[in-house]
Order: sequence, then structure tokens, then C-alpha cells
Amino acid sequence: MFAKINFYLKSFLFLELLKGLNVTGRYFFRKKVTVQYPEQKTPISPRFRGLHALRRYANGEERCIACKLCEAVCPALAITIESEQREDGTRRTTRYDIDLFKCIYCGFCEEACPVDSIVETNIFEYHFENRGENIMTKDKLLEIGDQYEEQLAADRSADAPYR
Ligand code: SF4
Ligand code: SF4
Repeated sequence: MFAKINFYLKSFLFLELLKGLNVTGRYFFRKKVTVQYPEQKTPISPRFRGLHALRRYANGEERCIACKLCEAVCPALAITIESEQREDGTRRTTRYDIDLFKCIYCGFCEEACPVDSIVETNIFEYHFENRGENIMTKDKLLEIGDQYEEQLAADRSADAPYR
């Protein structure tokens, strides 16, 4: 009986509605914490592990010496490297593929590289539309490296935080 009266009182006096409006009103004037992605973005750590890139030296020469340490250390077997000796006696890759469907973004390849060639950028906004686009070829990796070299160098400098 008491429960029934309570129910009717709540219904006629709109108590539930007023409770809800009270919550809305309280949060209406508070500082907003929602990030309006993609217009707004949260800060990214210099150690963030996103899309890969291959870097070059300042003279344009590619850093990679085809030692295959990254391929050996990759726990997901995502890296495939083929190499040959150039006319000047140095060794360079003829194929450097990373399968992004296999990659777990562990960063081991980056850690293993003795010449800071393969690195992970802070790019996390990418997608694939066609079959095969998950394979990052050497050309694509070098292109990303060229495009983001300034940021990559800054993140790896002695002054960078968290190094
Ligand atoms: S980040 Fe890890 S899983 Fe991905 S390619 Fe490098 S070593 Fe392999
Ligand atoms: S990217 Fe680095 S670790 Fe991998 S083959 Fe080239 S030099 Fe060696």
C-alpha cells in the first residue's frame, strides 16, 4: 500500500524528472572534460609507438644497413627483409616489408636497430581500404620517414623527455 502511494506521489510530482534535471543542471556549468576528437587531440608521448618509418641520414643516404636484427627480434614475424651488396661494397635492403596485420607495436624492432633506422612514429590515424595495403613497403616507410624526420629526430634527441 505504502509503495503504491509512493509511486503515485513520485509520478504526480515529477520527482524522477526533477532528479534528472538536477544532475543535468549541475554538470551544465562545470568545466567540460570531453575531448572533441578529431578537432581536439590529447598530448602524445614521444615514446608512443605508432606507424613505422625508415629514416635517412642528413645527406639523404638511408640508414638501414640490412643487418636484419629487427627481423630477427620481431616476435610477430611481421618484418621481411631481402638485401644485396651495392657496387660501393655496402649492403642495403632490396625489400623491407612490415605486415601491419601481424605487428603488435611492441617497439622491439626500434630498440634492436643499431643505426636508428626503423622507428615508430606517433601516427595513429591510418586505415586500409584495399587488400594488401597492410604491407608497408620500403618505399612507403622511407616516405613516412622523410615526411616526419624533424619530429622523429626531436623525439630521439638527448633533450626529449622520457628518453
Ligand atoms: S613493433 Fe614489434 S611486432 Fe611490430 S614490427 Fe616491430 S618488432 Fe615486430
Ligand atoms: S632497420 Fe635497423 S635493425 Fe633492421 S635491418 Fe635495417 S639496420 Fe638492421
